[in-house]
Amino acid sequence: MTVASVIVDVPAKQTDRPFDYSIPEHLNGVIVPGMRVIVPFGPRKIQGFVIEIKSNSDFGKLKEIIEPMDLTPIINDELLALGDWLTEESLCYKISAYQVMLPAALKAKYEKKIRITGDIQALSEELIHVFGKKDIITWEEAVEQGVLSLLQKEAAKNTVEIIYEVKERVKKKKLKHVFSSLTKEELIVAKEQLPVQAAKQRDVIDFILHTDSPIELRKLLSELHISSSTVKGLIQKGLLAEKELEVYRDPFEDRQFARTEPLPLTENQLQAITPILASVEENRHQTFLLYGVTGSGKTEVYLQSIQRVLQSKKEAIVLVPEISLTPQMVKRFKGRFGNQVAVLHSGLSAGEKYDEWRKIQRKEVKVVVGARSAIFAPFENLGIIIIDEEHETSYKQEENPRYHARDVAIERAMNHQCPVILGSATPSLESFARAQKGVYALLSLPSRMNNQALPSVDIIDMREELRDGNRSMFSRLLLEKVKDRLEKREQIVLFLNKRGHSSFVMCRDCGYVVNCPNCDISLTYHRANQQMKCHYCGHEEQVPRQCPECSSEHIRYFGTGTQKVEEELVKVLPEARIIRMDVDTTSRKGSHEKLLDQFQEGHADILLGTQMIAKGLDFPNITLVGVLSADTMLHLPDFRSSEKTFQLLTQVSGRAGRHEKEGEVVIQTYTPEHYSIELAAEQDYDRFYEQEMMLRKIHKYPPFYYIALVTVSHEELMKVVSVTEKVTTYIRSKLSNEAICLGPVASPIPRINNRYRYQCLIKYKREPGLNQALKKMLDQYQQEIHTNGLQISVDVNPFILM
Ligand code: ADP
Ligand code: ZN
Ligand code: ZN
Repeated sequence: MTVASVIVDVPAKQTDRPFDYSIPEHLNGVIVPGMRVIVPFGPRKIQGFVIEIKSNSDFGKLKEIIEPMDLTPIINDELLALGDWLTEESLCYKISAYQVMLPAALKAKYEKKIRITGDIQALSEELIHVFGKKDIITWEEAVEQGVLSLLQKEAAKNTVEIIYEVKERVKKKKLKHVFSSLTKEELIVAKEQLPVQAAKQRDVIDFILHTDSPIELRKLLSELHISSSTVKGLIQKGLLAEKELEVYRDPFEDRQFARTEPLPLTENQLQAITPILASVEENRHQTFLLYGVTGSGKTEVYLQSIQRVLQSKKEAIVLVPEISLTPQMVKRFKGRFGNQVAVLHSGLSAGEKYDEWRKIQRKEVKVVVGARSAIFAPFENLGIIIIDEEHETSYKQEENPRYHARDVAIERAMNHQCPVILGSATPSLESFARAQKGVYALLSLPSRMNNQALPSVDIIDMREELRDGNRSMFSRLLLEKVKDRLEKREQIVLFLNKRGHSSFVMCRDCGYVVNCPNCDISLTYHRANQQMKCHYCGHEEQVPRQCPECSSEHIRYFGTGTQKVEEELVKVLPEARIIRMDVDTTSRKGSHEKLLDQFQEGHADILLGTQMIAKGLDFPNITLVGVLSADTMLHLPDFRSSEKTFQLLTQVSGRAGRHEKEGEVVIQTYTPEHYSIELAAEQDYDRFYEQEMMLRKIHKYPPFYYIALVTVSHEELMKVVSVTEKVTTYIRSKLSNEAICLGPVASPIPRINNRYRYQCLIKYKREPGLNQALKKMLDQYQQEIHTNGLQISVDVNPFILM
């Protein structure tokens, strides 16, 4: 008997273990570890992952596997083992660990088909018969005909493949196309009858004569440099017709990138790359922290390290934050390695993502560049993993499994005995501390290429501006400098740090702030529809005309959104051309890139935006960067708020003066004396590190202590308090005296969506029993979690403490 151990797709405590199924005779040898299968589970048929094939089972009578869902394993052995590790580390269910590794198209319910990729005659006779005249059959047909094992052999040879027809709910993009319903002969005759002066119309007909399918109107116009009236004339004459046709989205890979050659490295770059190359050559795992300011040549070091990895026939994963996964970034990798590069980012549709993933699985590419989840790229022969901007908090996934890509990278690199490079101009405190202790090898690139000077920075105390009677959101110095740049026709970036507090509605007389009725948090004002909205539960309401507390009519929104800033700018600088970049102006696909292109081409003087403009901008004409409110993030209930402020300000300042022209930065703040602002202005990471480490030590935070956060929520306050109390007591009893268990306390946001929230924060250095205790605790409450709406979440190494 052959038996398959299967992790079933039921994310619950009771099912979080392998179940044994017998493999029916005809599927013997077809089913292998890493494949998905359909199995009977109670009265249902569900899907599961095969994790092991064995010859017997400890259980008596086994049910049979119904059918496989894949022709080849979709999770390789290394990733199967990684799933176990992830389960232990992040306390998630096994099934969640495997699901997170797969592209969305493999998770949802898509229609599955099998397609012939090569010559049909190369297939066996039985298969030729099954396919008949078609080159695609449905999975169901294949099952009915009993040819799965035959197809599997073909799949191994890449002669057939499975495709997932994604039933996309997103609207397909349709554009106007023109074509002619006349025959070629009729068209030629018609062309000759056109008036002599209609030269452009004749050009159009010539063009149409040489194309076989409808052409996109926009393309036709730009190709022939004509206006749409020319085409309209032809349509009116009945020579052409027009219709809406679907066009495919254009992911990066359709573009041709000019090939680039490796640059001769500088002395500093050589010193940094040598130990990396040695570790590649010796197949030795090591984690490097590449610490270098923006523009110091880190990316060139990445590129040349990857080159060496490819030479030894191995593969590379490059992670970049989603927000910096711009065409400029992709271009650098595709420019060097061409079509050996796959790109995984959230702008792709589920189908496109699956296509990229499949290229990796089929070994058609050697390098993947992507955001967080690309760390699970199914390579089998990894030679290097690179994490750029390693300090970015988006590398932590904030839902189950709550993993950090950096930890997964190091785990995978140990499995493959290859190096990890963590790159940053402002490394996370955790990583820099590890480098100081020698756990990571520290490599530094201390200066910018061509030794460009860092921009000079002015800090403006906005309280002083107010005392001097300046009530505007622009300090006098900033305004003066902006005017100066407008005259010189140089470009300006204005940055509004919105994370933390956005526009809320407040009474000017009594200070009443309009809160969400369901959550203990203020409502955010949206100008577009004059509504206030809760970002946690979605509640929406009109702005009141009168203060509900004191009946004053001076109730209005407070805080500064980008729209407000733009309006103010227009008032004081009517001549300035402004591009605004925020969630509102960039929600349409491709609009982000379009706005940046416009700015780069000089169609605007000022680029105004939020977080999203902090990264990657590298335009020679930017000589002034203004930060409108540096301290909005400082007051968040988060021990990393200083670190985040420092990183963001350093990054924004780095946008100025990247090229020949010198750059200046103006930082406006209400707390100019705060060390994270002062030291960011001086771009002094080392002193910031010292200062912040001292505070972390005093307050017992990472990197001196690890932390874990348990959050309990329920509709009844008493219930929440009593459960959190018990949880805290239990966990405390399982830990040594060295650990600190803070709780129960109300969460910084004490109520969301009418559910009260309490937490217990655990600080510890070494507690081998902690994970076990947390698991046991979750088990104990399992019943209540299922039946009475109790929620308990555990986040080991949390990045959001709210
Ligand atoms: P970072 O990734 O640290 O921001 P980059 O690798 O983008 O730095 O380098 C900054 C600029 O310097 C880029 O325009 C890059 O092409 C150029 N550059 C990098 N290394 C070299 C080199 N060895 N010789 C000449 N130019 C280089
Ligand atoms: Zn009031
Ligand atoms: Zn709410």
